[in-house]
Amino acid sequence: MISNATIIATEQQHTSGLYPKRGVALVRGEGARLYDAEGRVYIDCVGGQGAANLGHCHPAVVAAIQAQAATLMSCPEIFYNDQRAAYLQALAGVLPFPARIFLCNSGAEAIEAGLKFARLLSGRHEVVATMRGFHGRTMGALSATWEPKYREPFAPLVPGFAHVPYGDTEALANRVNASTAAVLLEPVQGEGGVRLAPAGYLEAARAICDRHGALLLIDEVQTGFGRTGRLFALEHSGVVPDILLLAKSIAAGLPMGAVAIHERHGSLPGGAHGTTFGGNPLLCAAAHAALQAYRDEELPRQATEKGAWLLERLTALHLPPVREIRGLGLLVGLELKTRVQPYLQALLDQGVLALPAGPNVLRLLPPLVIGYEDLEQVIATLQTVLS
Ligand SMILES: *Cc1c(COP(=O)(O)O)cnc(C)c1O
Repeated sequence: MISNATIIATEQQHTSGLYPKRGVALVRGEGARLYDAEGRVYIDCVGGQGAANLGHCHPAVVAAIQAQAATLMSCPEIFYNDQRAAYLQALAGVLPFPARIFLCNSGAEAIEAGLKFARLLSGRHEVVATMRGFHGRTMGALSATWEPKYREPFAPLVPGFAHVPYGDTEALANRVNASTAAVLLEPVQGEGGVRLAPAGYLEAARAICDRHGALLLIDEVQTGFGRTGRLFALEHSGVVPDILLLAKSIAAGLPMGAVAIHERHGSLPGGAHGTTFGGNPLLCAAAHAALQAYRDEELPRQATEKGAWLLERLTALHLPPVREIRGLGLLVGLELKTRVQPYLQALLDQGVLALPAGPNVLRLLPPLVIGYEDLEQVIATLQTVLS
C-alpha cells in the first residue's frame, strides 16, 4: 500500500504550486465519506468544493459512466448525439423557465459564455456584479469576481465591470443604466462568506434590469442542484433570469457547466461561441443519471431538512470563537471572530474535512446524502475544536 507521505511528496515535486494543499491524500470515496491512502476515514464537508452534492461514487452515476465509456466518449457538438439529446431534454424539463442550453466544462466557462451571450443579446458591454461575488478565475469571470487578491496580479482585466454592495437594492438601482448589458448575481454568495440575499433582493434586481433593458444573469454554479433546498436557489424567490449559469454538481463531480438562456431570446447565431468538449456524451450520461438521482432521492428536500437541523444544533452550541452562523439548506457558514485556517487543520486532524469562505468563515458543504450520524459527528468535532 502506497503511503500518504509518498503521494504527497510525489505531487509536491511536480505540481504547479498554485494550490495551498492540506496534508492528506484522498484515494477513495463513498457517499459523504472519504478515505486516505492509509485507510483513514474522513467525513466530507468539502463536497468536492460544491461538485459532490450527490456524494462520492453514486452507484447510478457510476453505472451510467461505465456504460457510456464503453459506447462513445467523444462526440463534438457539430454532430448530434443520443446522450446529449436526452440530457438536454431532461435538464430543460427541470429548469424553472423555458430555455435553450449551451453545455461547457466548468463554472468559469459558463460565466464566460454567459457574459459573451449578454453582450451579444444586448448590444451593450457593461456588467454590474457585486462586492464579495465570486464567479471564477478566467479573465472575464475574474473581472466579475470581486476579491482584490485574485484580481490585482492580473490587471488590466476586461473593461466595463462595476461592483456594488451585495444585497443593497438602492446601490444596484443607482449603478444600472441604459449601457448595462447585464447584472450578475449569486442567489447566496458562497466563496464570499455564505451571505444570503435579503428578502426581495433578487426580485428588485429583476425589476431594475427590466427598467433599463439589461439582462439578469444568475450564477448558480455553487447553489444549484439541491444545495440550498431547491433544485435551483432562485426557486426560493420565483425570479426568472435571462441567463442561468450552472456547473459544480451538475455531473456528480465530473467537469461540466451549462448556460441556460431564456427562450424569449431565441437561439444564438451559429459560430458565435463554442468549445471542443461541450456536450460530451460521457458527461451528458453522468449528468443525466445525476439529475435523476437528485429527483428520485428528493435531495433538495434532504438539504432543507438536514440544513435546518444542522443550523439549529450549531446555533444552540454557543461556540466562543463564532460570531454568526448563516445558511440556506446545506450551504452553511460559521463566521468566526478570528482566522479560520487553524480550525480547518484541527478539524482535519479529527477526521472532518471543511472549507473556508474568505479569511474568517468556516463553510460546510457536505454531500446532500450525508447521514445524520455523520452530521452528529461533525457537530461534536466542531464543538471540540471551537471550544
Ligand atoms: C466555483 C464557482 C465558480 C467557478 O467555477 P469553476 O468550475 O471553479 O471555474 C463560479 N461561480 C460560483 C458561484 C462558484 O462557486
